[in-house]
Amino acid sequence: MADHETLRHSRHALLDGIDDEGVDAIRAARVLIIGAGGLGCPAATYLSACGVGTLHLVDGDTVDATNLARQPLFGPDDIGALKVQAAAQALRRLNPAIELISDAVFADAAVLNIAIPQADVVLDCTDQWSIRQLINAQCMAHKTPLVSAAAIEWSGQLIAIDPSRSDHACYACIFDPAAEPAAHACGAYGVLSPLVGAMGCLQAAEAIKLIVRKGHSGSSLQAGVQRLSLLDMRDGRWEQLTVSRNPSCPVCATRSTISGD
Ligand SMILES: [Zn+2]
Repeated sequence: MADHETLRHSRHALLDGIDDEGVDAIRAARVLIIGAGGLGCPAATYLSACGVGTLHLVDGDTVDATNLARQPLFGPDDIGALKVQAAAQALRRLNPAIELISDAVFADAAVLNIAIPQADVVLDCTDQWSIRQLINAQCMAHKTPLVSAAAIEWSGQLIAIDPSRSDHACYACIFDPAAEPAAHACGAYGVLSPLVGAMGCLQAAEAIKLIVRKGHSGSSLQAGVQRLSLLDMRDGRWEQLTVSRNPSCPVCATRSTISGD
């Protein structure tokens, strides 16, 4: 590694639970980020800056002016450009050493079926109910870890799902695919700009933890109880719910209970 690359990783190398072996795992990892918007921009920023080896961005959308407040990889000059291309340009400036793959397509079953098996971790940074469920189903089918987040108005949610853990619920265990919320598209609602940034950063943190646990067998970074984290940014209040599998889940066919922790 060049000296500045060694220095880039130095604070992670000093961190209990990551150290040099965890840094190697991060540098070797491939993360699939589906959605290069409010969640995808901050997640990709931190994963790029901290040197995740390969980032695969999937989004068919273009930048518009309403995006600029919460998608800080983009500026006014990017309006009308493909998000994945504008994002890749900004991310390469942050870290030219990583590999960036830009797919200017909207995720569908065919796209995911190719992309997910190649990834070590998938970040769901989308805002559509049906695609969230599809991403979850494909991650469970391919046994690929998934970090899902959402943000709307003042509320954020986050969950990390590791299919190698027999006790982990999948997204469909918790959110029944047949029970789509009445209005899910964020375009009809306001959302606090830094709330989306916070949730995207938390996705990046969970992705790093999953990568290190898998690639650093001696890490002290042990997986704890799976939790669904809910943030009310208006009151600055967190709620964490323990979750478990649902035996009648249409995706993973196991059982779920949710209880306060
Ligand atoms: Zn399930």
